[in-house]
Amino acid sequence: MSSLKPVYVTQPYLPPLDDFIPYLKEIWDNKVLTNGGPFHQQLERALCTYLKIDHVSLFSNGTLGLITALQALRVTGEVITTPYSFVATAHSLIWHGNKPVFVDIEPITLNMDPTKIEAAITSKTTAIMPVHCYGNPCDVEAIKRIADNYNLRVIYDACHAFGVEDRGTSILKQGDLAVVSFHATKVFNTFEGGAIICPDAETKQRIDHLKNFGFVDELTVIAPGINGKMSEINAAFGLLQLKHMDFVFRRRSEIDFAYRKGLDNIEGIHCLPQIASDVKNFSYFPILIKSDYSLSRDQLYDKLKEFGINARRYFYPLISQFPMYRGLPSADSKNLPIATQASREVLCLPIYPALSEFDQQRIIDVIGKGCA
Ligand SMILES: *Cc1c(COP(=O)(O)O)cnc(C)c1O
Repeated sequence: MSSLKPVYVTQPYLPPLDDFIPYLKEIWDNKVLTNGGPFHQQLERALCTYLKIDHVSLFSNGTLGLITALQALRVTGEVITTPYSFVATAHSLIWHGNKPVFVDIEPITLNMDPTKIEAAITSKTTAIMPVHCYGNPCDVEAIKRIADNYNLRVIYDACHAFGVEDRGTSILKQGDLAVVSFHATKVFNTFEGGAIICPDAETKQRIDHLKNFGFVDELTVIAPGINGKMSEINAAFGLLQLKHMDFVFRRRSEIDFAYRKGLDNIEGIHCLPQIASDVKNFSYFPILIKSDYSLSRDQLYDKLKEFGINARRYFYPLISQFPMYRGLPSADSKNLPIATQASREVLCLPIYPALSEFDQQRIIDVIGKGCA
């Protein structure tokens, strides 16, 4: 067993290196390295076409995208969000001077439960930041109804939702703004990177200014903007990567199918249903380890590790349990029973284009054996 290569929860897809050389040559020739150069502009156009969206502004990572989205919409005070996410969701609120208010998730999708939002609204609430967890769309209509009623902005942390479509349109068009991440661990990557999907050219322009220190022209600065620009190297890699996304999604869907089949009859193992109706992205493969399984979640996690298989406990601990959040009244686990339970039961299994049939079968076999 020790001679086998370790398997990780994800592995970036890298197109053939030779295919990247012409892009590098072009950068070396024209000597534009960043600041909205030709590859940056090309990638924005290519993403609009590929994702069926109207306007996008590239960033050096998703976290700066989230912070800038809050700044662009002038979000102040309290923001309602989910504890069941990567820590950057709530961190972006702190960085922009907002107070996160956690509401519980619902048990099927593990997304923010819209029926819990109204009770969390106060006179200080100005926005909602939900997450399309694992690429499963939130109940966007219910969230929009509440936001419209209370005049709140909605910023989707769509970092898991690249390529997801629901009811005939990109899920990235939902909300006032949506933010995606192109980090190396995500379905589509530019090494590091991210983007804000904007509804109109005016909003995109404001965001383009904010990610460049607030510069509007050589002499005019309109806000204390950050440096969030994507470099030409990252943008060029994104253009190349985009050509391979159909293959990436096809392989991921095959792996998803094989897991569902292989894990179907194992008592105490629940695969999370895929909710997106039209186009899914198979970005993660979460399972829930219930009490009738022969091992605890952490015992299964350790057992897989013994076999060189590195699953991940996304999302454990909950964001609300980290020291900078746990003092908040909304962080109390009594306020978040579903999220608390999910964080104790979840395990994300390896899923990426290069995962071999052999390794996937080993994973299924270890889970199937349990304590035996
Ligand atoms: C990856 C991720 C982020 C942060 O994106 P970076 O590009 O790594 O800054 C934020 N939120 C969620 C839900 C993520 O998965």
